[in-house]
Amino acid sequence: ASTPCLSSGGTAVADALQDEIARRELNAEVQVVSTGCMGPCSRGPVVTVQRQGEPDLLYENVTPDAARRIVQQHVQGGEPVQEHLLPLDIPFFTKQHKVVLSNSGLIDPERLEDYVARGGYSALAFALREMTPEEVCAEIIRSGLRGRGGAGYPTGLKWDLVRKAPGARKFVVANGDEGDPGAYMDRTLMESDPHRVLEGMAIAGYAVGAEQGYIYVRGEYPIAAKRLERAIRAAERRGLLGSRILDSNFNFRIDVRIGAGAFVCGEETALMASIMGRRGQPVPRPPYPAQRGLWGMPTLINNVETLGNVAPIITHGADWFAGIGTEKSKGTKIFALAGKVATTGLIEVPMGITLREIVFDIGGGIPDGGTFKAAQTGGPSGGCIPAQFLDTPVDYESLRALGSIMGSGGLIVMDDRSCMVDVAKFFMEFCMDESCGKCVPCRVGTVEMYELLRRITDGSATPADLATLEELCVMVQETSLCGLGQSAPNPVLSTLRYFRDEYEAHIRERR
Ligand code: SF4
Repeated sequence: ASTPCLSSGGTAVADALQDEIARRELNAEVQVVSTGCMGPCSRGPVVTVQRQGEPDLLYENVTPDAARRIVQQHVQGGEPVQEHLLPLDIPFFTKQHKVVLSNSGLIDPERLEDYVARGGYSALAFALREMTPEEVCAEIIRSGLRGRGGAGYPTGLKWDLVRKAPGARKFVVANGDEGDPGAYMDRTLMESDPHRVLEGMAIAGYAVGAEQGYIYVRGEYPIAAKRLERAIRAAERRGLLGSRILDSNFNFRIDVRIGAGAFVCGEETALMASIMGRRGQPVPRPPYPAQRGLWGMPTLINNVETLGNVAPIITHGADWFAGIGTEKSKGTKIFALAGKVATTGLIEVPMGITLREIVFDIGGGIPDGGTFKAAQTGGPSGGCIPAQFLDTPVDYESLRALGSIMGSGGLIVMDDRSCMVDVAKFFMEFCMDESCGKCVPCRVGTVEMYELLRRITDGSATPADLATLEELCVMVQETSLCGLGQSAPNPVLSTLRYFRDEYEAHIRERR
């Protein structure tokens, strides 16, 4: 019941399961549970059958007809429906390490009881009962958790800055305004396990001394917003949010704020302006939100995936978390694996895994006889990684050294039939459309760069145009006000670095 499966017919499949169970009078013994995402999105809708005393079996590409057969043949008859089986021992599942998504696909995201039954809200209870706010911040610092929204800033240090900042009121903001093309990590987390994000926010609120939180959800994510609203109301009814949480002196309220579809509102100063009811445009930093954020008060802003790591860290301890990943990049990262790869979907992998393992083991390689050419990480702010770096570990530092970034987790695979100039043009068009227009370098520069890329790909550019493009890239990067403009040239610069011959071929073969 997550967006990818719903868009490929999940509702009709759920209805068919219910109908068939009722028709066979199995309601007393069989329960249909709508869960969040299980990961293999291109193979949806997927259905897991759990029969007592037997291993779980997963079905892919389930149609309403297949759903009825599954009920008749497997659920009632005990005989699996072979044509739709998706083995659970393939690398797509076995090479993943689920920390943030540990409940995703296993619980009904609309039932608080399901979350609690899997240990939900016990981290919040432990923090309130056994830890001081300083100790919570210290634990997050010790874990090595870094921001999952793109920048990779140490989360615990940010928390400690807000905790120590003077202010009559403080705020916690969860940034769920994911906007990179092809990326849907945050949407999936919010849809599949909303309480995980809320619990992380409440622990953050306790650690920094905030009593109010906002979760800013992209307007195109109505299911996520609805599930979060319901989760907040359910948690309030059980005393897990609101006043005197779990009979402590800690009060914390969370409200959902819905964006209006502007990519730039993922930038933290624009996001705060939008929450305050102003036009979502960036302003220069400093002051940083930790010093002067919402209504001039210290504000902690974390990406929702970052907050999704908090409860597991408090539950299992900083040492456990720091034991996953690499020396400087701890824990796991969720990626939306898309493009020219056999199995696209949502994956969570330990930091330090190689790109080759992601593309060829988890993703099943390049389909239709193609060969791997490059992978784009970090969306419109990132860059491409060509085949010679397939064995590079995926962590913050290694990707940056290659001219790309971890970003929020979009990972788009290109094969030998993809034109890298087209890729750069696609991302530039996106940035041009999404530029808020406040500053000249980005407002005018993205249009000029897009126009040059268009001329290169349609065969009307000259060598001088390529030189102008490179000059503009540097100028826009160095003089734009916010991250959108500063990083807009990245896909061009990185494709020029590794695939300059493709630019030159377009120009050589001009009409
Ligand atoms: Fe707006 Fe672009 Fe300037 Fe950012 S860099 S403030 S998005 S015009």
